[in-house]
Amino acid sequence: MAHPLGGPDLAQKPLAEHGLGEKYAGSRHLGVLPMGCIQCREGAKLVLFVTGMCDKECFYCPVSREKMYRDVMFANERAIHPPRDGQPVGEHWKDLFDECDLISAKGAGITGGDPMVKPERVEQVCKALKARYGPDFHIHLYTSCAFDLKWIPILKAAGLDEMRFHPDVRDYERMPESWHHAAIAEAVRVGLTTTIEIPCIPGKEKAILAMADYLQKAGANGLNMNELEFSDPNIANLKRFGYQPANDETQSVAGSRETGLAVLAGWKARGGVAGEPGTSRRSSAFAVHFCSSPFKDAIQLMQRFKRRATNVQRPFEEQTEEGTLVFGVLQPLPGGDPGEVAEALRGDFEVPAEWVFVENGRVETAPWVAEELAGEEGVLEELGVTAWLSEVHPTATRLEVERTPLPLADTDDA
Ligand code: SF4
Repeated sequence: MAHPLGGPDLAQKPLAEHGLGEKYAGSRHLGVLPMGCIQCREGAKLVLFVTGMCDKECFYCPVSREKMYRDVMFANERAIHPPRDGQPVGEHWKDLFDECDLISAKGAGITGGDPMVKPERVEQVCKALKARYGPDFHIHLYTSCAFDLKWIPILKAAGLDEMRFHPDVRDYERMPESWHHAAIAEAVRVGLTTTIEIPCIPGKEKAILAMADYLQKAGANGLNMNELEFSDPNIANLKRFGYQPANDETQSVAGSRETGLAVLAGWKARGGVAGEPGTSRRSSAFAVHFCSSPFKDAIQLMQRFKRRATNVQRPFEEQTEEGTLVFGVLQPLPGGDPGEVAEALRGDFEVPAEWVFVENGRVETAPWVAEELAGEEGVLEELGVTAWLSEVHPTATRLEVERTPLPLADTDDA
């Protein structure tokens, strides 16, 4: 059962020829990665969506319609509620803490929308997370919109560790004249790790390199380029602007990867050095990082899934290599009673009670139990059920990604 987001590892050879940084499904970097990136690739970062509000309309925006321009909050895939006015803050964040605990989070990435549309809320969650998990719990934040710069020292004092700015494409080559110039200077001044994160837009290598030059001179810590990819919210826009898929197997936009590599090669030619992951040996080195679409969508997400699956797995579920969970379903025919089916399993078929679970008008059980019952002629009819194997994400929403009818089709060609 393949992970639905899992693309093949893209060919590594052309990249290795550049002698650039390390290889994570096509991701490459020079310099030392910021802690936000290091924890992200372990799947150890909680994704904290603090609001869908944003005053930009980027043509490549990947945020789903259910979230965009709405004041909603999510901790990973779990909907949580912003505190009401006057509500004691500490007790409010139970679901947030619960989600952190379920992935054994080492940090959080605060995103949106634009979190700085709601800076008071960002301050609250930074304080709450640091109070609960301590000073080493690493928090980074993405922001694009203009905001009152007084918030930068306030958020630093609240526990924010890293600010990732997202300037408009038209500002890449004129950063000193952009709104972000003063914000970057202030973030550097107060001691935040200060970076820029952008989608890697094909053909923009010259402008991105100019921005990297600017950032390094400004005393910032790095530049992160995400491989541009198609998603439901942006596919119409990207096609309208003439962008094409890189291949049939991934969501990557053609040319984005090549642009990222050209930026890295250009940075190397300027004296950029390969980093030592996980060490501070080159801690003064400015990082330029290309984060590939397969890495982001498959490996990073898979690591987070595995962390969560281990904590939420029921005793009868199997965890796949991709971190999804598989269990058997016995669905009573119309008018049937799942409680009676469960009783029959425990009594007539001697299935251990902890492997039989009545949920959503059906019986959920171990995949091997469902397969065995379905393999015996007449048993499903006797129980009055249809049966299948269900594969779900180990998230709060438990999205079903694959359903395999039982009995399994005979694949023996002999
Ligand atoms: S700033 Fe971010 S959230 Fe806002 S429109 Fe652009 S990509 Fe979307």
